[in-house]
Amino acid sequence: AERAAAVEWSGTGTTADGHPVKVLANVGSAADARAAVGTGAQGVGLFRTEFCYLAASDEPSVETQRAAYAEVLTPFAGKPVVVRTLDAGADKPLAFLDMGVEPNPALGVRGVRVSFDRPDVLDRQLEAIAGAAADSGVEVSVMAPMVATADEAAWFAARVRAAGLQRAGVMIEVPAAALSTAEILAAVDFVSIGTNDLAQYVFAADRMTGALAELNDPWQPALLRLLDIVGRAGAELGKPVGVCGEAAADPRLAGVLAGLGVTSLSMGASAVPAVGAALAGHPLAAFRQAAQAALAAPTSARAREAANAVLGG
Ligand code: PEP
Ligand code: MG
Repeated sequence: AERAAAVEWSGTGTTADGHPVKVLANVGSAADARAAVGTGAQGVGLFRTEFCYLAASDEPSVETQRAAYAEVLTPFAGKPVVVRTLDAGADKPLAFLDMGVEPNPALGVRGVRVSFDRPDVLDRQLEAIAGAAADSGVEVSVMAPMVATADEAAWFAARVRAAGLQRAGVMIEVPAAALSTAEILAAVDFVSIGTNDLAQYVFAADRMTGALAELNDPWQPALLRLLDIVGRAGAELGKPVGVCGEAAADPRLAGVLAGLGVTSLSMGASAVPAVGAALAGHPLAAFRQAAQAALAAPTSARAREAANAVLGG
């Protein structure tokens, strides 16, 4: 049995030597939020707001959105929550935002790209988020999905600040964004890596295609090497770097991510206690050593083995 299993989740994410790594939950509804609080999640690293729009044939009013968001935020009063703006397009088409038929929707007008065509929809969502933040007493940050360049990040941050919200960030889920993290962090307060889409785009392998699951394995060294670039840029600039993709839910990989410089991990709530315990199982230096060993591995299987060789189990 791995040594880390003996350590219990204390509710405060730290390595064994006290280096903080926040353990946060991914939520998409008020029920998710209530369940996440119960696991001791320190906040929310990814609030997917799509739920508010998916069933709607028309854009929900600002008041409707504000009430729906406030219901999700309220259980986290006094804690940090990262709200992601609408991630429409590709696999999530919306009736009221018809972007037309695209031959390659995953490479099309999705995420923040929809906002460039319809900034009015983004501004109304930001107004609703600002209202819900005030209603709930939550420390709200806002981030955009599918950002590719520093210019796009700056455009988004300006609109977030114009809405009266203090903290703007973007997801790093396009390889170009990962390679531009330093420039992006000059424009925003934080980044959060979406490993699900980042793996899909860096391996040119649809994340929904089971036959390509091995290419979408977050232990793939090529993916880890991109995460290393992002982690280093964040550390150099002293700005937070989160991970909110499925990778964060793997307790062994969570330590490796901390070793790459990631400052918070956000995951499905059920994984919170195991990830919190795994972080507490070793000092940061051991996670850094495990990360270096995984980065140098030739395959995902060997990367896992290399990390296990350092950390035990
Ligand atoms: C991701 O892409 O890793 C992510 C967290 O966002 P989603 O799964 O909603 O695309
Ligand atoms: Mg994504």
